[in-house]
Amino acid sequence: LVVVENVNKHFGELHVLKDINLTVDPGEVVVVIGPSGGGKSTLCRSINRLEPIDSGTIRVDGKELPKEGKELARLRADVGMVFQAFNLFAHKSILENVTLGPVKVRRQGKQESEKHAMELLERVGIADQAHKYPAQLSGGQQQRAAIARSLAMRPKVMLFDEPTSALDPEMVNEVLDVMTGLAREGMTMIVVTHEMGFARRAAQKVVFMADGQIVEENTPDEFFTNARTERAKDFLSKIL
Ligand code: ATP
Ligand code: MG
Repeated sequence: LVVVENVNKHFGELHVLKDINLTVDPGEVVVVIGPSGGGKSTLCRSINRLEPIDSGTIRVDGKELPKEGKELARLRADVGMVFQAFNLFAHKSILENVTLGPVKVRRQGKQESEKHAMELLERVGIADQAHKYPAQLSGGQQQRAAIARSLAMRPKVMLFDEPTSALDPEMVNEVLDVMTGLAREGMTMIVVTHEMGFARRAAQKVVFMADGQIVEENTPDEFFTNARTERAKDFLSKIL
């Protein structure tokens, strides 16, 4: 569903993505893990063209995203993205945050969008917060609202970039539970996270990224107990 081939990217002198190849099958959950500065966020941002790449190709459902224009907005909507910081529109209610994209980009009717939005808010467990503003919600609730907002676009794949790392510990699980549920329902997901419980529970594949390269691809069980590369073992010894 997502095919990344020979992708390279530089920030000036810095070679941040070095010949990256990655395939994510429909319904597959891939966890990306690795040291700070390794290029994990840049890879996520490249997949929906928030960052331009220097060479290589990235296709989602067989289509390469164009550099700009209407087509880009439509294809980008196929890729949902949830970041570390919640990125909700502060001056709009939770319900408005969730309906905005479908109405504007998907050209969906307001009523239909609101009905779908309420179903999604129900699913992430915050339907009762629909008419509040983001600042009135806890971090975990805001992050679940951000997930509902992405899902409202009916994406083919969801990217999560450290979705729980800005949360207080007691709110981490409520967000991971929503993500685990999505994974079980067959959503294709790329998740940057150091939450090993989640990786073990939900992922089919772990990708270890360091210094702009994919150093190791492995199953979660193998990776956490018996990593193949020294670089990964060294990293794991520091975070475990
Ligand atoms: P972290 O775990 O800290 O989030 P990461 O693996 O997500 O790290 P990236 O954010 O992708 O790493 O950054 C990779 C490298 O690219 C880093 O050295 C970073 O400083 C650099 N970088 C990222 N964004 C930019 C930018 N817009 N301009 C210049 N350099 C950047
Ligand atoms: Mg990052």
